Amino acid sequence: MKKIWYGSVFLLGSALFVFMLFQKEPVVLEPAVDTRPLVVLDAGHGGEDFGATYPPEQEGRALLFEKDLNLAVVYAVKERLESMGVGVALTRLCNENARETSVRIAIAQERCKEKFGTLCDLLVSVHHNGSQNIAHDGLMVIYGGEEDIPLSLAVHEALWEGEGPQPLIARADVAELLHYRYGNEGFLTGEYGIVQGFSPAVLTEAYYITNKAQAQEHLSSGDSSSFVFCTGTEQQHTSRGAFSMGKIAWEADLIVQGVLAFLEERP
Ligand SMILES: [Zn+2]
Repeated sequence: MKKIWYGSVFLLGSALFVFMLFQKEPVVLEPAVDTRPLVVLDAGHGGEDFGATYPPEQEGRALLFEKDLNLAVVYAVKERLESMGVGVALTRLCNENARETSVRIAIAQERCKEKFGTLCDLLVSVHHNGSQNIAHDGLMVIYGGEEDIPLSLAVHEALWEGEGPQPLIARADVAELLHYRYGNEGFLTGEYGIVQGFSPAVLTEAYYITNKAQAQEHLSSGDSSSFVFCTGTEQQHTSRGAFSMGKIAWEADLIVQGVLAFLEERP
C-alpha cells in the first residue's frame, strides 16, 4: 500500500516537472542569415533530358550534350564566385533529371534557404542554344520580366564584350540575333519558365552547341577532358566527347564578370 502511495507521488511529480518544462518559452534555433551576396545557379536540363546536342538532334548518340556543358560551366562559375566571397547554391548537382519548372524554382529557393538561411539575390540559368543548322550561331540572353533587365543587360554585356565565341558568323547576323534576343519570344513561349519564377533571373545561351565551329573547339582542343565536376558521389560526365576546359573557363569568367557588375551597381 505504501509503495503505491510513493509511486503516485513520483508520478505526479514527474508529470508536474514535464508540465513546467513545457511552460517555458520554446527555444527556436534560427539559422544564421548569410550577409554575403548570394547567387543560385541552374544548370539547364539533366538526366534523360539532354538539351541540345552536337551533332544536332542525335540524343544519346551525339558527341556533346548540352546538359553536361551547362553543368561544367555552372561549376566553373561557382568556383569563381565563391573565391570572390559570393555564396553559391545549385539547383542541379549532377545528372539529376530535369524537373518541371515550378519544382525547379522551389528547389532553387530551398537550396538557398538551407545553405544560407535566406533567399538568394539572383538566379543564373546556364544553357547553350541549339539549331538544326550547324552553321548557325549567336549569343542569346533570356529574361522573364522587367525586374530581370538590369541583370540580363550586365550578363549580356559581359558575354558580348568577351567576343570569343563567334568563330564563324558575320557581325550583321549577330546583330540580328541580338535584336531577337531582347524580343519577348523567349519568355512568352513559356519554354524558359525558371526565369519567370525567380527574380531577378537570367538565362544565358552563350553560343550554339550545335554550331560546328563551337563543337570542334571542344572536341579538338588540346585541353579537352572528360572531367568530373559533380558534387555527388557518381562521375556524371556522360557526353561521349570531351569539353575544352579553356572554353569553359572563358565563358565562366564572363558570366561572373556580368554577375559582379550587376551586384556592384544595384542599390
Ligand atoms: Zn537548354
